[in-house]
Amino acid sequence: MKVLVTGGSGFVGQRLKRIKSEWEYLSSKDLDLTDYYETEGFLLYHRPDAVIHLAARVGGIKDNASHPAEFFSKNARMNTNIVDACFAAGVPRLLAALSTCAFPNTVEKYPFDELNILDGPPAETNLAYGYTKRLLWVHMKSMREQHGVNYSCFSPSNLYGPEDNFDLESSHFVAAAIRKLHEAKDSVEFWGTGKPKRQQLFVDDLCRAIPLLLDRHNSVEPVIVAPDENLTISDMVESIKSIINPKASVSFNGSLEGQYRKDGSNGLFKTVCPDFKFTPFEDGIKETYEWYEESIYNRN
Ligand code: NAP
Repeated sequence: MKVLVTGGSGFVGQRLKRIKSEWEYLSSKDLDLTDYYETEGFLLYHRPDAVIHLAARVGGIKDNASHPAEFFSKNARMNTNIVDACFAAGVPRLLAALSTCAFPNTVEKYPFDELNILDGPPAETNLAYGYTKRLLWVHMKSMREQHGVNYSCFSPSNLYGPEDNFDLESSHFVAAAIRKLHEAKDSVEFWGTGKPKRQQLFVDDLCRAIPLLLDRHNSVEPVIVAPDENLTISDMVESIKSIINPKASVSFNGSLEGQYRKDGSNGLFKTVCPDFKFTPFEDGIKETYEWYEESIYNRN
C-alpha cells in the first residue's frame, strides 16, 4: 500500500517515520499544499492508496495570538486543497489530523466527546486555528455524505516528546518547561496560574495510533486521541522539575492564562483500539529530556 504523509518534516511526521519508514514523507518543499493545482497534480502523478494529512501551521499560545490571520489563511487553504485534490485524484483513503483545540472553549460536562465538537466557539487564544480544524472536519464529513469516501479525522490532545519545537517564542508548554528548567540557574517563571488542567499526549503514542486508525477508523467522528492522565500545569511543572532541576524554585505570573479545562474523552478511541496503552507522563518526560540533552550535546 502506497501511503503519503503530508507534514512529514514536522514533529509528528518525523517521529512517525521511525515507526513506518516504508511510507513517503512530504515537506512543503516537496509539495506546497496552499497551491491547489500543484497538490492535485502531485497526487495524480503519485497515485497513493492513502494520504495521511498532518501538515499545518502549528504553534503555541503566543504564536497563535500574534499570527491569527496567517494561521487561518494557511490552514484553511491547505486543508481544503488536500481534501478536494485527494477526491479529484481518486485517492481512496484520507486520514487527517484535527486537534482538541477545535473543540469548544467550554462545555457543560467534562470530558467532552466527539459529539461536542460544534457546541460552542473554540478558545479565543486559538480561535483561527481551531476553526480551520472544524472546517476540515465538516469538509471530510460532507465528502463522506455526498461521495461515500473513506475520509476520516482524529483529534490529538496537546503533544510533547523528542524532536518537539523547543523555541521559547513558538513552543508548546511542555517543551518550554523542559527548556526553561534545563537552563534555569535557580528560579523559573511560568505564564498563568498553574491551575488549568491538560492532557499531554506523548508523540510516539500518537504515532503508534495513526497506523491503527488508518486501518480501523472509517466513520465520521473526529476520534479524540488523548491519554487518561489530566494533570494541572503546576503538577506537570513539579514532575518535570523533579526530573530535570529539583532545586529550582518555580513561580506563576498570572498572565496569559489558558482554558481551565479542555479534557476530551478517549472512550471512542479505546473502542477502536481496545488494547492501546498510553505512556505515563513521567516516563514520556524522561524520554523527551534524554533526547533534548543529547541534541544539545550533538549541537555543541
Ligand atoms: P509541525 O511540527 O509544525 O510541522 C508542520 C508540518 O506542516 C511541516 O512538515 C511543514 O513542512 C508542513 N507544512 C507547513 N506549511 C505547509 C505547506 N504550505 N505545504 C505543505 N506542507 C506544509 O506540526 P506538528 O506538531 O507535527 O503537527 C502535526 C499535526 O498534528 C498538525 O495537523 C497539527 O495541527 C496536529 N496537532 C498537533 C499538536 C501539537 O501539540 N503539536 C496537537 C494536536 C494536533 P515544512 O517543514 O517544509 O515547513
